[in-house]
Amino acid sequence: MHGHEQHAALVAGEQWFYLQYQGVLREQDGSLVELRACPKCGSSLARKTTKAEQERSLRAMAAVLSSSLANLPEDG
Ligand SMILES: [Zn+2]
Repeated sequence: MHGHEQHAALVAGEQWFYLQYQGVLREQDGSLVELRACPKCGSSLARKTTKAEQERSLRAMAAVLSSSLANLPEDG
């Protein structure tokens, strides 16, 4: 069985950071919500986050993307 309880456990647990990142949303009240994919069903799960946390992880991802792009051969 897979459903709300499993999703709640993923959102609350340490494994959250190993789920596929799907971005950050700004709610109408100005608060930030991070989205990640459930590895089992692909649903988007949401968890409250902060600007500092998102800046840190987005900059880390940007560094990985940029060095990976630089590793691609020019003609390949
Ligand atoms: Zn799921």
